[in-house]
Amino acid sequence: MDFTYPAEAEAFRAEFRAWLDAHVDDAVRSIGSGGLGYDTPGQLERAQAWNRLLADAGYAAIAWPVEYGGRGAGVMEQVVWAEELHRAGAPGPVNVLGIPNVAPAIMTYGTEDQKTRLLPPMLRGDDVWCQGFSEPDAGSDLAALSTAAVRDGDEWVINGQKVWTSLGHHAHWCELLVRTNPEAPKHKGISCLLVDMSTPGIEIRPLITITGEHDFNEVFFDDARVPADAILGPVDEGWRVAMTTLTHERSGVARLHLGTRKKVADLIAAAQAAPGRDGRPAAQDPALRQLLARVYLEAELLKLIADRAISGELHGRALGPESSIAKLVWSETDQHIGEVAAAVLGPDATTGRWGRDRVGSRQATIAGGTTQINKNIIAQRVLGLPRG
Ligand SMILES: Cc1cc2nc3c(=O)[nH]c(=O)nc-3n(C[C@H](O)[C@H](O)[C@H](O)COP(=O)(O)OP(=O)(O)OC[C@H]3O[C@@H](n4cnc5c(N)ncnc54)[C@H](O)[C@@H]3O)c2cc1C
Repeated sequence: MDFTYPAEAEAFRAEFRAWLDAHVDDAVRSIGSGGLGYDTPGQLERAQAWNRLLADAGYAAIAWPVEYGGRGAGVMEQVVWAEELHRAGAPGPVNVLGIPNVAPAIMTYGTEDQKTRLLPPMLRGDDVWCQGFSEPDAGSDLAALSTAAVRDGDEWVINGQKVWTSLGHHAHWCELLVRTNPEAPKHKGISCLLVDMSTPGIEIRPLITITGEHDFNEVFFDDARVPADAILGPVDEGWRVAMTTLTHERSGVARLHLGTRKKVADLIAAAQAAPGRDGRPAAQDPALRQLLARVYLEAELLKLIADRAISGELHGRALGPESSIAKLVWSETDQHIGEVAAAVLGPDATTGRWGRDRVGSRQATIAGGTTQINKNIIAQRVLGLPRG
């Protein structure tokens, strides 16, 4: 499958590439290398400074409507934006959860005050946002959540616990799902609060991953009081609010292959330099070549899925099964690359970049919807199979 990028997208590429060439240096490239948790001292501040540059030039959230500081960009410009950032080796904006996930809910359900107060600092990365959805007993079955908010005069009083809260330790704000009506059916008694993370009664405890990084947290609420107007959307309609997806942001699927194909290319290059059996490079070992070919093909399959999604968009078809299938293929390929790196590079792949990638990739089949849930979605909504 091949297609030509429209002239407007190529014009945007030329403009953005020139801007990136003028602004990206090694210091900017190094920002993104520390994981989502911004663990290295000063890393978050450098990421925020870069985010401000992007935002001031109109490149932080090009899919957002113009009225909120975006460009109202179409899908091809979004794809070009991702390709060019990737080519330059530059990180995107700080709010990886805020910009695509929280913002659309605020744009759709927020009051004018919420929009004008919260969106600009989110766009510039001055305010960091997290999402407080998952709980110890509510992950895939999110609607089982039990963190409660009870109205007391002009305030909501929050009690309960969230878990796996990415960026929670840096966050100024949290899109928090709470139970406001324990009597209602489970999807119907949930509300969405926009919570200031400096509120007394909120305690954040770090969760350190197997890679030694601090990306996410447990967040405890003990009589934390937030103002009544912290609610986003109607009371007890939080499920609908939380499920708002960024209808302007449709390039996510189309970008997944960028990092994966780069990783495979880097692995093949490493295998060409690594010693194999009989004094030949590992890349010339027939058994290892099979493994490398497998991940190469998986990464190319991901690119084809992306192209199919883009082609569908260009022909006016809504994004369909590609997103579930792409998530599945992307997450499994990511893990396969780690396994193949270990086979090809031997002990050298237990530390450094490949060692980190190998263990770090275990999260890919859990975050953002597990493989099993994804397979259920594909079985039911794509293949039309009956529920098991
Ligand atoms: C890197 C990372 C970042 C995250 N960031 C955030 C965040 O910022 N905010 C947030 O709220 N959450 C976050 N999460 C949590 C994530 O959303 C949950 O881990 C995910 O929804 C799965 O929930 P769980 O971990 O409770 O597993 P469970 O839902 O308990 O699932 C356990 C196992 O059972 C399987 N399973 C469950 N139900 C079914 C079913 N119906 N059919 C078949 N199999 C099933 C699952 O596939 C899984 O293998 C993050 C997770 C990760 C790994």
